[in-house]
Amino acid sequence: MSLRELYQEIIVDHGKQPRNFGKLANANHCQAGHNPLCGDRLMLYIVERNGIVEDVHFEGAGCAISVASASLMTEAVKGKSVTEIDKLFDLFHHLVTEGSEPEGSLGKLAAFGGVAEFPVRVKCATLAWHTLKAALANDPDPVTTE
Ligand code: ZN
Repeated sequence: MSLRELYQEIIVDHGKQPRNFGKLANANHCQAGHNPLCGDRLMLYIVERNGIVEDVHFEGAGCAISVASASLMTEAVKGKSVTEIDKLFDLFHHLVTEGSEPEGSLGKLAAFGGVAEFPVRVKCATLAWHTLKAALANDPDPVTTE
């Protein structure tokens, strides 16, 4: 299996069977995100204590890229500090806009490198991340990619 096929498989898998899907009753941050260009919608539930994201879940519906991205994002940020998440967001954003990452720094998130070839998909891939950042910053407004 080529790397490209492996990455495709990760996205299809997480798009069909998203991890950390559903509400979190003890969440202390909730944030809605919407990508009107594609129709992707999600709600994030986060348990954050002392600057650490202890747990994160999401609900929502959208294209395979947006659902897979939200699913992989929840796996990637759980247990990380807000500072670490900021760095990860920058690396991920660079990946989906430029198609490259510093070697090995993103793990499974590297699966989204192909998105850089489809600029319209960048908003699908980054919706969950923008929503996460807004949630941790206690932004009172729902996130929209427009
Ligand atoms: Zn989408």
